[in-house]
Amino acid sequence: MRQATDRSFAIAARLVAATALFALLTAASPASARDRPLTVVTTIAQIGEPLRTIAGDRAEVKSLLGEGVDPHLYRPTRSDVAMLAAAEVVFWSGLNLEAQMKDTLGRLAATRPVVAIAERLPPSALLATPGAPHDPHVWMDPDLWRQALAAAVYTLVAADPAGGEGYRARAQAYFVRLTELDAYIRTVIASIPAGARTVVTAHDAFNYFGARYGLDVIGIQGISTEGEAGLAAVEGLVALLVERRIPAVFVETSVPERHVRALIEGAAARGHTVVIGGALYSDAMGAPGSWEGTYIGMLDHNATILARALGGTAPAGGLAGRLAAPIQQGGRP
Ligand SMILES: [Zn+2]
Repeated sequence: MRQATDRSFAIAARLVAATALFALLTAASPASARDRPLTVVTTIAQIGEPLRTIAGDRAEVKSLLGEGVDPHLYRPTRSDVAMLAAAEVVFWSGLNLEAQMKDTLGRLAATRPVVAIAERLPPSALLATPGAPHDPHVWMDPDLWRQALAAAVYTLVAADPAGGEGYRARAQAYFVRLTELDAYIRTVIASIPAGARTVVTAHDAFNYFGARYGLDVIGIQGISTEGEAGLAAVEGLVALLVERRIPAVFVETSVPERHVRALIEGAAARGHTVVIGGALYSDAMGAPGSWEGTYIGMLDHNATILARALGGTAPAGGLAGRLAAPIQQGGRP
C-alpha cells in the first residue's frame, strides 16, 4: 500500500514538475510569511472534498459545482468567476468534462496555477471513447483518481511549501482509505453473478468503473449529457435488457430520468420486468455533510447498490458500516 502511494507520488511529481515550478515562481509571498490559509477553488466536488481533507487547515478549498449539478453543461456564474479570480490555486478535472468553463479557466492560468488533474495522468491510463479523444469520468476508478489527486497535492505543496509535510502525511492517510475503498468495491462487485454484470445507466459515466471491476457498462446517452439519446439506441437497449434478462437499470442524480423510464416501459411491453436499481452518483456527489457527499461515500454508495440490485451481496451499511472510525456523519447506503 505504502509502495503504491509512493509510486503514485513519484509519477505525479514528474507530471507536475512544470506546474510546481510555475507555482514557485509566481508565489505571492514566501511560505514562512503566510498568515492565512491558501485559497483553492475546484470545479467538481470530487476534487474539492478530498483536497479539503488533505489540506487540513493549510488551505480553504471551495468547489463550484454542488449536489446534482451536471459539469458537462455547467456555465460559470458571475460569482463563480469572482471566486476563481480570488483563488491562489485552481483545480479542474479536464479532458473536456467542464466543456463550458474552459475559456474562463484558460484565462486564469496566466496568473496562477490552474491544473486539470485528470490531464496529468499518463494518456495510456485513459479510456478512448467514441466522439471524444478521452473519456473524462476518471474519478470512477479510485486508483486513477488517487494519482490525479496526488498531482493536485504536489501543486498545493509547491504553492504552500511550509505546509508540505502536513499535506503529504494527510494525503498518504487519505490514499490508504482509497485503497480500502478499492478493495471493498472489488469484493462486492465480484459477488454479482457472472451473467448479470451489465450496468445500464443514464449516461456513459461508468466506463472506468466497469473497466476496473469487470462490469459491462451501457449508457443511454453518450459520454457527455449534451446529446439526446436517439430512439434507435433506446430500442436497441430494450432488446438487450430482454435478451440478457437484466433485472435493473440505474438513474443518476445529475441526469434526467426520462430515458431510463423509456427503457423500463419498452421492456415491460415485451413482457420483461426491469426495476430502477437505485440512483447512482455519476458526475455529482451527494449533499455536502452526508456520506454520499464525500468522494469515498459516493463510490461506496454506487458499488453497494449496484451489487445488491444485480443479484450480488453487500454488507449492511456498505463500506461505511465496515470502517473502524466514523468518518462523516450522515446517511448510509
Ligand atoms: Zn458525465
